[in-house]
Amino acid sequence: MSTLNFDIAIIGAGAAGLHLALAMHDDPYFRNKRILILEKSAKDKNDRTWCFWEKGEGLWDNLIQHSWSRGDFFYKDNTVPLNITPYRYKLLRSIDFYEFAKKKITASSMFDWVEEDVQSVSNESPIQINGLKTVYTTDILFDSRIPNEFMKTQDSYTRLLQHFKGWVIKTNYDAFDTDCFSMMDFRLVWPETTSFTYVLPLNKREAMVEFTLFTSSLLQKEDYERMLKNYINDILKIQEYEIIEQEQGVIPMSDFPFEKYSKGNHIRIGTAGGWVKPSTGYSFKNCERNSRKLIANLKMNKPLNAGLLKRKSRIYDTLFLDVLYRQNYRGPALFNTMYSKIPVQTIFAFLDDQTTFKQDLFIMSRFPTKPFVFSILKKIAQRWKKF
Ligand SMILES: Cc1cc2nc3c(=O)[nH]c(=O)nc-3n(C[C@H](O)[C@H](O)[C@H](O)COP(=O)(O)OP(=O)(O)OC[C@H]3O[C@@H](n4cnc5c(N)ncnc54)[C@H](O)[C@@H]3O)c2cc1C
Repeated sequence: MSTLNFDIAIIGAGAAGLHLALAMHDDPYFRNKRILILEKSAKDKNDRTWCFWEKGEGLWDNLIQHSWSRGDFFYKDNTVPLNITPYRYKLLRSIDFYEFAKKKITASSMFDWVEEDVQSVSNESPIQINGLKTVYTTDILFDSRIPNEFMKTQDSYTRLLQHFKGWVIKTNYDAFDTDCFSMMDFRLVWPETTSFTYVLPLNKREAMVEFTLFTSSLLQKEDYERMLKNYINDILKIQEYEIIEQEQGVIPMSDFPFEKYSKGNHIRIGTAGGWVKPSTGYSFKNCERNSRKLIANLKMNKPLNAGLLKRKSRIYDTLFLDVLYRQNYRGPALFNTMYSKIPVQTIFAFLDDQTTFKQDLFIMSRFPTKPFVFSILKKIAQRWKKF
C-alpha cells in the first residue's frame, strides 16, 4: 500500500465538506497547505435540494434557482400569511453547488481531490486514513462519516426521522404564484403524525411539492406517492401534471451527542458532527456558519470544536423532540401555535440561535406548558439515573 501525507484532510465532499473546502480555498492562511478531499462518489447528480432562509445577500446567490420573500402556513382552516422580509427563503439545487465547488477546488494546487471509499481512520499522530488501496496521513481531519455509535438504538437519546418524497411537477397552464411558497401545510396529514406538505413554485408552471413526516419509522414508497397525489389533486386542485424530477430522503432528527465523537484534531462535520438542527432537519446554513467557526478556531489555535454547538439550543431541541416523539399527533397544533403566535422573523432568529433569553421566554410562553413539563421531568430523571 502506498502512503500519501497531507496537512489537512476532509472525508466527504457533501454540504459540510465542500463548505469547509471552499472557505479554506478563499483564505490566504491555507495557501501553503496541502489539503486532501476524499469522496467516494462522483458528485455528479442532483441528489438533493437545499432550502434555507437568510437575510439579504448570501454567498451562494449566483447559484440559487429561486427565492421567495412571502410564504404561507396552513393548519385546518387557519392560513397564516408569512411576510419573511428582511429574510428570503432560498432554493439551491445540490448539483449546482457540487459543480461550482468541484471546479474551483480541483483548479487549485492546494487541493488533491481523490475518489476514495474510506474504510477506517486511526487516531494516531499523524492521523491515518485507510482507503481501499492507499493510506493517507494528515495532521487534521474533518470527517463526514456518521459515527457507528449513532446506529445503536439502545440508549436514552431521542431518534426521530425527517423523511420525505418530493416531485417537481409541471402543468400546461399557469398554476403557481412564483412570489409565494408554502412553508408547512398541515391540511393533509398521515393519521396521528407530524406530517405536512410544502410547495416551492419555481415558475408559473413548475413547482416542487414535497410530503414530509417527522416520525420514528418510514412509510412504504407508494404511501408517500399517494399523499402527494392527494395533495396535488385535492388541495392544489391540479388534476393534470407531469412529474419532471423526484427527490426522496431521510434526515436524522436526534439529540444524540455527535460532538463527543470528535477527538483532538479528528473532527466530525455535517450530519456526523451534529450540525443538523434536531428539531427541524435544516443544516445547510449551519454548514456555512460552522465551517467559518472551525477555520477561526484553527487559525487562533483554539480547540477545533469550540463554540460550534450551543448548549441553550441543545436543551430546547431535546425537549421539542421529546414532545414530538411521545405525542407525535401534537406536532401540527404545536407548529400552528408557533406560526400563528410568533412573528416569523423571531422564529427564524430562534432557529438560528440568534435570540436573547427574553425572546426565548416570549417564545416559550406561547406554547402549552404541560407536554414540555413532562419532557423536562423525563430528561432530568434520565440524567439522574446515569449518575
Ligand atoms: C434529500 C435531502 C434534502 C435535504 N434538504 C435540506 C434542505 O432543504 N435544507 C437543509 O438545511 N438541509 C437539508 N437536508 C439536510 C442536510 O442539509 C443534508 O443532508 C446535507 O447534505 C448534510 O451535509 P453532510 O456534508 O453532512 O452530508 P452529505 O451532503 O451527505 O455529504 C457526505 C459526503 O460524504 C461522503 N462519504 C460518506 N462516507 C464516506 C466514506 N467512507 N468515504 C468517502 N466519502 C464518504 C458521501 O458520499 C457524501 O458525499 C437535506 C437532506 C437530504 C438527504
